[in-house]
Amino acid sequence: MSDATPQFPAPRSQQRVSAGGRKKVQLKPGRSLMDWIRLTKSGKDMTGLHGRLIAVTEEELAKHNKKTDCWMCIRGMVYNVTSYLEYHPGGEEELMRGAGGDGTELFDQIHSWVNYESMLKECLVGRMASRPKTVSEAIENQSGLKAPKQKLLNGTGNLGGFEKQSKNVPLRHEWFQTEDTITVVIYTKQKVINLDSIIVDLEGGVLRTEVRQQEYSYILHLELCHEVQEAISGLFYRKCTLLSKTDVSHDTRLLCFQLPPGCYLTISIGQHVYLKSNIQDVEVVRPYTPVLPTLYVDPKDNGLSCTNIYLMVKIYPDGLLTPLIDRLQIGDCISVSSPEGNFKQSQLEGITELILLAAGTGFTPMIKLINFALKIPSFRKLQLLFFNKTEEDILWRDQLDQLALKDKRFTVEYILSEPHPEWRGKRGKIEMSLCSEFLTGRTEELKTLLCICGPTSFTEQAVGFFKQLGFNNEEIHAFSG
Ligand code: NAD
Repeated sequence: MSDATPQFPAPRSQQRVSAGGRKKVQLKPGRSLMDWIRLTKSGKDMTGLHGRLIAVTEEELAKHNKKTDCWMCIRGMVYNVTSYLEYHPGGEEELMRGAGGDGTELFDQIHSWVNYESMLKECLVGRMASRPKTVSEAIENQSGLKAPKQKLLNGTGNLGGFEKQSKNVPLRHEWFQTEDTITVVIYTKQKVINLDSIIVDLEGGVLRTEVRQQEYSYILHLELCHEVQEAISGLFYRKCTLLSKTDVSHDTRLLCFQLPPGCYLTISIGQHVYLKSNIQDVEVVRPYTPVLPTLYVDPKDNGLSCTNIYLMVKIYPDGLLTPLIDRLQIGDCISVSSPEGNFKQSQLEGITELILLAAGTGFTPMIKLINFALKIPSFRKLQLLFFNKTEEDILWRDQLDQLALKDKRFTVEYILSEPHPEWRGKRGKIEMSLCSEFLTGRTEELKTLLCICGPTSFTEQAVGFFKQLGFNNEEIHAFSG
């Protein structure tokens, strides 16, 4: 997975390419994330306020809606993103959609895994000046609101408060309510707050939030007067220890991380985690799809350890995070998020044929799919089309070939885009003729799911070709690259 291109995930899906999905744009030279980090460290006044933080009114925010002067509010905090526009991987136009206004929802749709506080900390202008609604206002509002299930705070005086407060580290909170959502914002004096220091519980109609800061622990109780669905922003990260590292190919490693004591989690098929590291004081986060230790795990062994996570990581020499990952020594730690992703196990229910199209490290989500499918006796056919540049780039080729010999339901075809002259197999990249050739002669009555993963352009082209060949949306799952 490329760490030079923070394109993944697609809107609302973290993984899935869908119509209208986020497009990655070609940035001008010198506009990489590393260049942005350098610029933020250069001492340039990114806000035009020389480090002063101000309270911003809605009217003031709205004035800064041009490419040459662009402010945006995310979760109550206002950033001057003018300098960042050219560095935004999704392009200036996408970012301009939030110009002069509240970009929180836009941000959550596309970037919820990005730590914008860290990325934009030098761009912080201040917080919104608008006062939170009072409790009585909230109650008055309820009668006029369309979705009462989502309305919450009550007026019994139990709105809560910080149980302990220091003059040196004052915290305050406020909340905003729209027709569908309510957002509780807790302000600290820290520009960046680590998610590890926040604990949120929603139980018995009480939202309890604990913020740990320095030697203090602040607890906020909010009594809710209606049921809500929680959507806590941000991912929980835990420090995992590198247990082993082996070469899969000339540039790809298989890393086994151990979860911290007391932590047990399993990562389902199609889910990914994020690795996070601080690079020059900026949080860099990249998604990886965990794999299994080997392609075919014995059916007696469920293969899904609750205490270890296996990652197959391609090292990009000019990447930001992967050279750092490559330098990790056994016993070193890195932050790994909880898993997420929108591939549902139910998509495999009743499926008797899987067609897998993988390009490069786009192979990683296929590993658990292969393992899962071949354990089901009623499963009939599993075909992998594996696109790589050269033979040396093919990941786990020996294992794939052995599996094809061992289980007749499984076939694999390698397609190389930059083969050596002596290569006898298929050549080229994804194209219509290849897809249709692949489907010719299919007579069996099979219920098929097609899964695609690779670089964005590869995935988009493959989806397009198979749709033209008659596959519908339910029959295609595209992981975004
Ligand atoms: P790569 O550059 O080595 O390319 C592998 C093959 O992909 C090429 O041989 C070619 O056939 C095809 N390809 C590459 N660029 C293409 C293009 N523009 N159009 C059509 N086909 C193209 O691949 P890599 O460096 O291993 O990158 C793999 C990609 O898969 C990354 O972008 C990564 O983010 C993505 N990925 C996504 C997930 C996920 O879960 N969503 C998981 C792993 C990898």
